[in-house]
Amino acid sequence: MEAITITIEGREVSGYPGMTVLQLAQESGIDIPTLCHDPCLAPAGACRLCLVEDEPSKAILAACVTPIRPGMVINTRSPRVLERRKVIIQLMLASHPDSCLVCDKGNRCQLRKLAADLGIGLIRFQRIPQPSVIEEVNPFIERDLSKCVLCAKCIRADHELVVEGAIDYIGRGFTTRPATLNDVPLEQSECTFCGTCVALCPTGALMEKERLYHGTTVRAIDTVCPYCGCGCGLSLEVKGNRVVRARPARESPVSRGALCVRGAYGYDFIHSADRLTSPLVKTEGKFEAVSWEQALDKVAAELRRIKADYGAESLAILGSSKCTNEENYLLQRFARAVLGTNNIDNGSRLYGSAGRSISFPRMTSTIDEVEHSGVIMVIGADPTTSAPAVGYAIKRAVKYGGAQLLLIDPRPTKLAAFAHLWLKPKPGTDVALINGLARVIIDDRLFDEESVARQADNFGEFARGLKAYTDEKVEKITGVNRQDMRRAAHLLAEAERTSIVYGNGITQRVNGTDSAVALANLVRLTSSIGHKRGILALPRENNAQGACDMGSLPDCLPGYHSLDDTPARQRFEERWGTRLPTSPGLTALEMVQRAGEGKLKGILIVGENPVASFPSPSVVKKALASLELLVVADMFMTETARLATVVLPAASFAEKDGSFTNFEGRVQPIRKAIEPVGHSLPDWEIVRQLANRMGHPMPYSSPQEVMAEIQELVPLYRRPANANSPAQDRADSEGARFFPVEYVPPPDTSADRYPLTLLTGSILHHFGSGTRSSRSSRLKKFSPQAWVEVSAPDAAELGLKDGDEVRVASAVGQINTAVRLNGTLSRGIIFMPISFPESPVYELFGIDLDSEAKTPSLKSCAVRLERISQHG
Ligand code: SF4
Repeated sequence: MEAITITIEGREVSGYPGMTVLQLAQESGIDIPTLCHDPCLAPAGACRLCLVEDEPSKAILAACVTPIRPGMVINTRSPRVLERRKVIIQLMLASHPDSCLVCDKGNRCQLRKLAADLGIGLIRFQRIPQPSVIEEVNPFIERDLSKCVLCAKCIRADHELVVEGAIDYIGRGFTTRPATLNDVPLEQSECTFCGTCVALCPTGALMEKERLYHGTTVRAIDTVCPYCGCGCGLSLEVKGNRVVRARPARESPVSRGALCVRGAYGYDFIHSADRLTSPLVKTEGKFEAVSWEQALDKVAAELRRIKADYGAESLAILGSSKCTNEENYLLQRFARAVLGTNNIDNGSRLYGSAGRSISFPRMTSTIDEVEHSGVIMVIGADPTTSAPAVGYAIKRAVKYGGAQLLLIDPRPTKLAAFAHLWLKPKPGTDVALINGLARVIIDDRLFDEESVARQADNFGEFARGLKAYTDEKVEKITGVNRQDMRRAAHLLAEAERTSIVYGNGITQRVNGTDSAVALANLVRLTSSIGHKRGILALPRENNAQGACDMGSLPDCLPGYHSLDDTPARQRFEERWGTRLPTSPGLTALEMVQRAGEGKLKGILIVGENPVASFPSPSVVKKALASLELLVVADMFMTETARLATVVLPAASFAEKDGSFTNFEGRVQPIRKAIEPVGHSLPDWEIVRQLANRMGHPMPYSSPQEVMAEIQELVPLYRRPANANSPAQDRADSEGARFFPVEYVPPPDTSADRYPLTLLTGSILHHFGSGTRSSRSSRLKKFSPQAWVEVSAPDAAELGLKDGDEVRVASAVGQINTAVRLNGTLSRGIIFMPISFPESPVYELFGIDLDSEAKTPSLKSCAVRLERISQHG
């Protein structure tokens, strides 16, 4: 591509064809004012403030939409340009209210700044004030359209970035304004309150409610969202020692200027009055506040006692997929080198770490690659709620990139409206469907046999095993029409670029590993030269990938080195100056089982809440309560912390440095924005101090020093922690192999007493067990309590109406909740959200584990509904 050289402000500068005058000027450090431009949005040329003059042609051009041409000589501040800019700003001010003194946008208002830069004092036009209709009924956004300058940033963000289509212009001339369809309030529209429009609005027309009038923020610190595994970039605005606002970080390669409602408004937990501020020790059933010295001395003494009395295998550590990489690294070092056991696991076990068992410990695709795929298959996942940044990318791919979406989900999700083909298999029948797709691809010769055989072993056995998955058999098992299955197979195999996105809808089951293996087979089958395939799993928590990479696992050292890989183990032994245990330890659920059997005596739980997030909470509670020592490090007095012997107050993500690894494998730094609340400490510091007391000093004075050791010992992390590109393994790496898998019917499908299938899932306004999101008053206002969604035919048969209180009963437990009718659910299927402690949906599940990944089944089970009382 040949460079184009032009002159801007007397300087010769070069750009590439297609670049705009504005882009080249900004790249060259030359300022051109704008109101409607944003690098995350397509140029619109709406505000005309970026007018410049091309001296040879004397043309006045909008720099944001004018491509550079050879021979241009651009003057950005000629008298003609400045005069026009002043007129434009004065016209805007003529219809702007005189409320600057009390507008919370204050010095951040770009209109006010531009007026000042242009030296505008008096407005020479007649004032045409817009009527002020302030909309503030929703919990998140205050809209005062009298301050709107019609830059359309909000509308473009809605259409181009998050693809909701909630707002557009209505009216003509002076009455033009952004509005929802039928001009209903925002909360009755498609708006998901992602806050992107608020972050982009140049004036005070859109403001964050409840954060208003907290004063001017003093500094902003770029960090990473602590909720889901997307890892969106976040800018935390701070005043004093308070986080007062969160905005999308401008430079994030993941979020590209858009967060979701959790990322934008979910931070009340940082300064919640419920935060634990001192260490607590339980004496005679009551917690008493003690000093850190007393608490840590007690924990260290008890750990030493239990190890001496019962051996190292009677102790365990549950690390966290929410803690940083550095903290997980120290936790596994503590387990292995200090306690002498491999009994270390992390919370991602619950959400399907099945990917590890299919020789893809890390994913083979990125969000960007998903967005640039020709076909995207989404199975067992609703990214629009569980991983919204991925949801945005998929919607953009379909709407603007021409991608075809193959959706496989028994439940309607927001992606259904974007789907080219939507298959609704019966819950738990994914392996049969995936095998059926692979069989069609082989039968119809939709793959390159020579290339497949070269890239992966065992193709013959795999293909023979698939012969049983005939159209008829798959249709009978899954309920998916055979023509649709065949269309799906052709769609997948024929596209040049395909991405498969899967979630815990297929992995959080007793045969979850089989589904992931079947998907891996499908990827290998359809990958050949010229056909690019990627697979992206959506683990739930923000650092699920990092916790596993760091060896917070019972069967792997950091970097997925096997425990019996002697050279690898010796590298860690030499570094840590001690011998390491070699036999695999207990997984998270096995720890609970052993505690219940009295074989495990002490557990240190860091940043996890098993009582709320494991199946059978009452069984978990009983098991944990029977321990001789339960130490919980957390920000809050969770259901699990209440059972503890010692509770250690942990700092939040905003109070510490470190790094998170998102599900693409992108290692991103998190930065301390405020000092730890109360006497809380970051988890890495708690582990370090405990290790010192246990006679195994850990020589790190900062997370940066821990990362330096990680980079030395873990090849995956040899790049700098702030690298902007994901570190990933490729599916077609050496040793690739087809693993035949057989469909096994879900255990509870034939239960006559439980005729309905309950599906569980996340919702946008809450997250995980709700420990953090339920402390955000605004998120809570939007979804205050749990519910069960029931299809219209099932509701009619059971005589249920909206709001009726019902009992949901499974073979192992029962809970009460309220009915919500859902006209799009299929008959026989009901849905309940997780994250509501008052309706603990996991009471309905037993501890049934996937035999390989030891992941519990938490996605579906057989239930019945009984009405308790009628609404109204
Ligand atoms: Fe945070 Fe995930 Fe939302 Fe991004 S998509 S803002 S990482 S919760």
